[in-house]
Amino acid sequence: MNPQIIKNVSSRELIADVQAAAESWSPQRTLTWAIETFGNRVAISSACGVEGMVLIDMASRLRQDFRVFTIDTEFLFPETYNLMDRIEGKYGITIEKVYSVLSPEEQELEHGAALWTQDPDLCCNLRKVEPLRRKLGELDAWMTSIRRDQTSARSGAHRIEWDAKFGLVKINPIVDWNAKQVWRYIHDHDVPYNALHDQDYPSIGCMQCTRAVGPGEDPRAGRWAGFAKTECGLHVIEPAGTSSNGTPDALVRGGSATVLS
Ligand code: SF4
Repeated sequence: MNPQIIKNVSSRELIADVQAAAESWSPQRTLTWAIETFGNRVAISSACGVEGMVLIDMASRLRQDFRVFTIDTEFLFPETYNLMDRIEGKYGITIEKVYSVLSPEEQELEHGAALWTQDPDLCCNLRKVEPLRRKLGELDAWMTSIRRDQTSARSGAHRIEWDAKFGLVKINPIVDWNAKQVWRYIHDHDVPYNALHDQDYPSIGCMQCTRAVGPGEDPRAGRWAGFAKTECGLHVIEPAGTSSNGTPDALVRGGSATVLS
């Protein structure tokens, strides 16, 4: 039998064994289980939003041998790159940065200037979804910081589940948390976070597609302004048996919803 099929079958059996029990696990127990079960074949996926920061900080308090990767679109804010440097310094880790196969210059030559203004879905596919799919191909499981209360599409997420879109185990240690819990953890543990969050950027992605939000505006209003698009596609759930792409991380600060790409 194809090794990939064998791997998928064994992973699904593993999930069947633990999924129900895992719903009552703490985030820390979930992180520990993930690393002990998958070793260096599991990694934390983080866009360096506050929820991802919670996972990184928790993991650092549990053990030293954990992996973190991020999708670097090469269009991120200087504040985001600065945060990556601070993370590496504070936690003594190297964030594995994953890039599009096309440099920004190559993308412009192939698809035209400012693709994000013409076809943001294609731009996100090139710069986020394809790199994520390539990275996940190296792994047996990935850990995300999604929460059920972020979007309706995430309301049915389990703490441990099979990711039919990318074909591996998906582990969501803080799936049952809310925004206040996230920020409480950040402040209680002095966890670094993106300086833009203090400048009315509840949701932070690429520079070209993110702006500050005004009083009373939906926290997502700052993402892809002028387009119907609200998600980059990394966590969009597709029917089992089909292939899907990625999702953004929804954040909430001070009670207001925030979406991270
Ligand atoms: S968020 Fe905007 S600039 Fe970034 S990959 Fe998507 S469309 Fe392109």
